[in-house]
Amino acid sequence: MEATASKMKEVVQEKWKKRPLIISGPCSAETEEQVVETAVRLHKTGKVDIMRAGIWKPRTRPGSFEGVGAKGLPWLQHAKKLTGIPVAVEVATGKQVEDALTFEVDVLWIGARTTVNPFSVQEVADALRGVDVPVLIKNPINPDLELWTGAVERVAKAGIKQIGLIHRGFSSYGNTEYRNAPMWHLAIEMKRRNPGLLFINDPSHICGRRDILQDVAQEAIDLDYDGLIIESHIDPDNAWSDAKQQITPERLAEMLSSIRWRKEDIASEEYHAAMEKMRQQINQLDDELMQILSTRMKVSEKIGQYKKDNNITILQTNRWNAILERAYAKGEKLGLSKEFITKYFDAVHMESINHQNKILNS
Ligand code: PEP
Ligand code: MN
Repeated sequence: MEATASKMKEVVQEKWKKRPLIISGPCSAETEEQVVETAVRLHKTGKVDIMRAGIWKPRTRPGSFEGVGAKGLPWLQHAKKLTGIPVAVEVATGKQVEDALTFEVDVLWIGARTTVNPFSVQEVADALRGVDVPVLIKNPINPDLELWTGAVERVAKAGIKQIGLIHRGFSSYGNTEYRNAPMWHLAIEMKRRNPGLLFINDPSHICGRRDILQDVAQEAIDLDYDGLIIESHIDPDNAWSDAKQQITPERLAEMLSSIRWRKEDIASEEYHAAMEKMRQQINQLDDELMQILSTRMKVSEKIGQYKKDNNITILQTNRWNAILERAYAKGEKLGLSKEFITKYFDAVHMESINHQNKILNS
C-alpha cells in the first residue's frame, strides 16, 4: 500500500507540472457505478490528468443534493485503481480533510463558499499541518482578492508546498450571461501577484451552462492559464447537481481538441525583435498619454481655482453629461467601446475632482 501511495505522489508531482493540466469529473459523486464509469470514460479520452468529484456539496439553499458524504470516498479509490488517474475532492472542514486523506485522495480543493470564511479556511489549514498534499484554492464567491490571498496564506502557513488557484468567477446581483461573472481583470491581478502558483480556470462554474463553455475555456487559454477544471458526467441532463453545465467525457475530449492551445513564448529571434519594437511603441504611447493626462489635470486645477474665486460647486452634472455624450460619439468612431469610454472617463473625472478638491479646500 505504502509503495502505491508514494508512486501516486510522483504521478501527481508530474501532473502538477504538465501544461495544460486538465481536471475533470462530475460535480458530485452520486453512485459507485457513476463514479467508476465516468473515470473509465475519462481515461479513454487520454486527455484528463486528475479526476474531480464532489463528496460534500456546499449548496446555496438547503434541500438540494448535499453530496453522498464519506461513503463515496472508496468509490474514488476504486476508480483510481482501475484507471491510474489521481483524484481530487472539495474539503470544507477539518473532519473532511481527515476523511479524504484516510481514503488517499490525491489533491484537495477549497470551494468558493469556504474561501470566503477565514474560520473555515483556518480549520482546513490546521487539519493540513504536517501533511504533504497539493491544495487548490477557488476564488471566494465575492470579488475580493484579499480573501483569496488570505486563504492562500493560511494554507501556505500550514506548510503546504503545492498550492494552486482556481478561478471560478464571482457572484453578481442580477442575471448576466454567466452564472458567475469571470471578472478576468481580478483573476489577472491575482495571477500577477502569485506568479509561482498553478493557475487554473473553471469554465463550468463561470458559465453555468454548456453552450459557452468552450469560449470561456479558450479565453482562459489565451490568457495563459495553466489548465482547466471542467465538470463531466456520464448523463449530464440527469446529474444530481449542476446538470446544466456538465458535459459527457466524450464531448469534453472534443472540446479539448478544438481549443487553440497557445504557447507563452517561442525561441524565435525574429518574433522577439518584432515584439520588442511594438512594445517600445506601446511604452512610448503610454508615456505620451500620461503627459497629456497630467496637462489635462493642470487645466482642471486652473478651472478649480476659477470655481473657488467665484464660489462655484466642483461637480456640474450638465457639463459632465455633455463630456460623456461627446466621448461616446467620438469613441465609437475611433473603435473604442462604450464600456471602456465610461470606465476611462469615470477615472479621469474622479482624478480631476480630487485635484479641484485640493484647490477649493486649500
Ligand atoms: C464545485 O466545484 O462543484 C463547486 C461547488 O464549485 P464552487 O466552489 O466553485 O461553487
Ligand atoms: Mn459543481
